[in-house]
Amino acid sequence: MLKRTVIGLVAVSSALVGGFVVPNAMADDVAPAAVTISYDDSLAPEYTNEITQAIQIWNDSVNNVEIVKAQSGQPAEVTFESFDGWPQAELGPMFPGDNGTIWMGKQAVDEGYNVIRIAAHEFGHSLGLPDVKPGPCESLMSGSTGGVDCTNAQPNAEEIAEVEANYANGAANAPKKEQHRVIIGWQDS
Ligand SMILES: [Zn+2]
Repeated sequence: MLKRTVIGLVAVSSALVGGFVVPNAMADDVAPAAVTISYDDSLAPEYTNEITQAIQIWNDSVNNVEIVKAQSGQPAEVTFESFDGWPQAELGPMFPGDNGTIWMGKQAVDEGYNVIRIAAHEFGHSLGLPDVKPGPCESLMSGSTGGVDCTNAQPNAEEIAEVEANYANGAANAPKKEQHRVIIGWQDS
């Protein structure tokens, strides 16, 4: 990941100074460069700590997509919003230029569901994962069916593999926007 990050910075700075096309330093590698998508948590201020931890979990778990925080005022591929009902999310996988929403539902928080797990689960939807219900706590995408006492916010091996597959070919795998405007709720079974 460090190598890719450094290359990304070089590309950005070169684009800023002169618009040169930087030779693709990853061309000799088997895997294409990671897809980068951004998120905005400014509309969910009471959950920013948990959202930050959830995003860190995903970045530590997958290589083919990298999630960065959008700069203030800049559009993001995924926007977290505070919401009074149950958590919901639009199903991805989100690619650059998309604008998906995650509703951080207070109802589940009030009932005692772990907020980091909620944020990581809903972001799993942003990365294209469906619900796996009913399921055990070990499964992130089992959501509410993992139980109110479940604090696991880590995707399991199958969930990680599915996200890696969704982004394996870079933007070539991007679905048409209208194909992923499905909203999935936390409490649905
Ligand atoms: Zn869900």
